[in-house]
Amino acid sequence: MVMNMRLVFIGPPGVGKGTYAKMISGKYGIPHISTGDIFREEIAKESELGLKVKYYVERGLLVPDDIVIEIVKNVLERPECRRGFILDGFPRTVKQAEELDKITVLDAVLLFEAPLHVIIERVSGRLVCPNCGAIYNVSWKPPRKPGICDVCGSTLIRRKDDEPEVIKARYEVYRQTFTPVIEYYRNKKILIEVYAGREAQEVVTEVEKILRERKIIKNEHIISKH
Ligand SMILES: [Zn+2]
Repeated sequence: MVMNMRLVFIGPPGVGKGTYAKMISGKYGIPHISTGDIFREEIAKESELGLKVKYYVERGLLVPDDIVIEIVKNVLERPECRRGFILDGFPRTVKQAEELDKITVLDAVLLFEAPLHVIIERVSGRLVCPNCGAIYNVSWKPPRKPGICDVCGSTLIRRKDDEPEVIKARYEVYRQTFTPVIEYYRNKKILIEVYAGREAQEVVTEVEKILRERKIIKNEHIISKH
């Protein structure tokens, strides 16, 4: 029996798409493929491709389409991707999307959306401990003493990346980058929009419901009970 769940996840930074990908990946036993992670992996292996990627990453440049595509192609050929996969961070351009269509047939592209103010509230509420790395959130995981780490007692800080202005700028870059890709998948009628301004479990439950309705998730996909 052929079982496949070939998915792409798209969404603005801070929308929680990595979290949803991990939850679904764990439940259905399909790999969560983040291009950022693969780049780091290839660089660490010092593979030929890795050295090429390193050149761009070190200079803060975008890795060219042909290199990204070659890397993704290699990963999708791995045996663990036979039952499906979740691609996260790829494709970023219409060219990449077209090339991906030559490598595989996607079942669905999930677009996670939340209003910018919700994302800002979520991300800017994040506080980290500079000493032990513990992460808090003023809204749903506050430290026992405001501004103080429960674990080691250090003063918590907000990362620069989590400042509202930085979040806004990243959101704008995301919107400009991904709008053509989103349109590409909307035209192909495989785009599914999911409202992500709520609890992660609710978002994932909704995704599962939609994928079941479309017969993309079947009972045999589930590998463990939660
Ligand atoms: Zn601490």
